[in-house]
Amino acid sequence: MKFGVVGCAGRMGRMLLREVLTSRDRGCELVGAVAREGSSVLGHDAGILAGLDPCNVRVEDDPVPLFADADAVLDFTTPTATRRFSALAAQGKTIHVIGTTGLSDGDENALRKAARHTPIVQAANMSLGVTLLEALVERVARTLGDEYDVEILEMHHRRKVDAPSGTALALGRAAAAGREVALDEKAVRSRDGQTGAREAGAIGFAALRGGDVVGDHTVIFAGDGERLELTHKASGRDIYARGAVRAALWAHGRKPGLYTMRDVLDL
Ligand code: NAD
Repeated sequence: MKFGVVGCAGRMGRMLLREVLTSRDRGCELVGAVAREGSSVLGHDAGILAGLDPCNVRVEDDPVPLFADADAVLDFTTPTATRRFSALAAQGKTIHVIGTTGLSDGDENALRKAARHTPIVQAANMSLGVTLLEALVERVARTLGDEYDVEILEMHHRRKVDAPSGTALALGRAAAAGREVALDEKAVRSRDGQTGAREAGAIGFAALRGGDVVGDHTVIFAGDGERLELTHKASGRDIYARGAVRAALWAHGRKPGLYTMRDVLDL
């Protein structure tokens, strides 16, 4: 299967190159790597960029030939770039695996349109563990109901600028889905001072920041006399790249549509 990576100079882009180049035994071949115009890595060998041996694929700045040639393109870039890439994926009938976060409603609509022509797999967290955690949280929330208070705790490195994390919010949505309520109506995203007692049915969030923590998430179901805690800890960003390659392999030969990692894992 022929792979391309867009945004290949980024932190995730380099991880994705590495994952594709080290997955030859699974039938993966890197055919192109694209960085933004003016990038200092244009013309560099993609293997070297990934910290591996040269692979004879040079970094280009034009994504059009890549989307025409590749079977699948892995995209962890920016919302504006991803929107443009999804139109190219639709034209080329190329599988588009999207890890980019912060997409607007307009961007999401554009993806839905593109997905009429080609398979798109999109997830704010491509790790297999977090995908499983989301499914487990939904299941547990459905079984335990409102009598168990849901609190979601996350910790990330000191450079992270937003809170709660996108993954914490996705876990909140999973809990809300299990209870058949809308997260927006139940979320309590911060507490300070005289907050009053906890409201029944609330889904609470707490964020810790420090050090080089890649991403820890715990969902707590606190009842009378017992507490159930489900935890995921990421120790490296390679888990997201591994999930992305797995998603592309899964999407090969599928009908056009907008899929999630839960579809990939058949959850
Ligand atoms: P980064 O800033 O290191 O990399 C983004 C790269 O995209 C940059 O190199 C930038 O030059 C490039 N880019 C932007 N526009 C482009 C264009 N038009 N053409 C080609 N390249 C372009 O950021 P990062 O840490 O690698 O994260 C990238 C995205 O992936 C973010 O949205 C982040 O939140 C998301 N992310 C998702 C997951 C997941 O599992 N879904 C995991 C980690 C990060």
